[in-house]
Amino acid sequence: MEQVTAMKQSTIDQKPSIYSLQLQELKEWLKENNEKAFRAEQIFDWLYTKRVTSFEDMTNLSKQLRDRLESAFTLTTLKTIIQQQSSDGTIKFLFELHDGYSIETVLMRHDYGNSVCVTTQVGCRIGCTFCASTLGGLKRNLEAGEIVAQVVKVQQALDKTDERVSSVVIMGIGEPFDNFDHMLSFLKIINHDKGLNIGARHITVSTSGIIPKIYKFADENMQINFALSLHAPNTELRSRLMPINRAYKLPDLMDAIRYYINKTGRRVSFEYGLFGGVNDQVEHAEELARLIKGLKCHVNLIPVNYVPERDYVRTPREQIINFEKTLKNHGINVTVRREQGHDIDAACGQLRAKERKEETR
Ligand code: SF4
Repeated sequence: MEQVTAMKQSTIDQKPSIYSLQLQELKEWLKENNEKAFRAEQIFDWLYTKRVTSFEDMTNLSKQLRDRLESAFTLTTLKTIIQQQSSDGTIKFLFELHDGYSIETVLMRHDYGNSVCVTTQVGCRIGCTFCASTLGGLKRNLEAGEIVAQVVKVQQALDKTDERVSSVVIMGIGEPFDNFDHMLSFLKIINHDKGLNIGARHITVSTSGIIPKIYKFADENMQINFALSLHAPNTELRSRLMPINRAYKLPDLMDAIRYYINKTGRRVSFEYGLFGGVNDQVEHAEELARLIKGLKCHVNLIPVNYVPERDYVRTPREQIINFEKTLKNHGINVTVRREQGHDIDAACGQLRAKERKEETR
């Protein structure tokens, strides 16, 4: 294992990804290199509208500028290792990064369009007890460009059928607020009208509850959708499911959520995974209703897939319906998330965990 790690580190390419740059940053780089600033928009057009795969293809730029770009930046930062398609159209991608680590990205099909779920870290250190992504710990943060490149890669796959990525959810592997600056940079690039031009209201970020970053995010006042992985209606149960709750306790977390709602005027989504016999009883639904009473919010109930490395089992269908009904009786907006990709390792981190097991055999 030590040898593998050493080899991975020695192959790290030091050049930054061009997808990490905001339009303004690219303009500044061009000026420093005695090039006209308007070239930045041409380059963005090649990157995000024409979606070329080499600097050489940027044919309205001089050869000298293409060579400069080539020596300063990387363009192809992700290599597709696996592309698995489910019977419902969901596609899971396993990408290899320049240093040999692998990450997952998922394309989901909805009536309202194509949604991409991106990864923000290699692994995760949050330690949620139901999550396969945390098993190997955190290896490193992704650069903004590595997150942007996931959306570009999926869009390139969709280009073949003339389809478009219409929404993005930051709910893949990793805790986005643990990689806050790169996540913010990513959001700005995909939202920019000269970038991927994905509307703010079609972007959702989800956190496990890093309180200081919730305040910081609220102060950014971006009009994107915000979700909290709640999963439990009280401190004791939440600490059991999500160790982060020991550092950032539920009452303080709810204060941060109230701050976010007041500051942005936006609704919060509470993600609530249903774990058989753990947090899925009617009493839990009653307690949850009391916890979020009066908040501008919505609850997403997620019947959790069985995770082979963990002990959790699925909640029976009837129990899901009872839970939903209880919340509705309290006037709470609630939906049960439709499962996607059930036949292709759909839970967060499963594909990567499986790969890792095979790698280490
Ligand atoms: S659920 Fe999300 S935050 Fe929790 S361990 Fe998994 S990847 Fe990290």
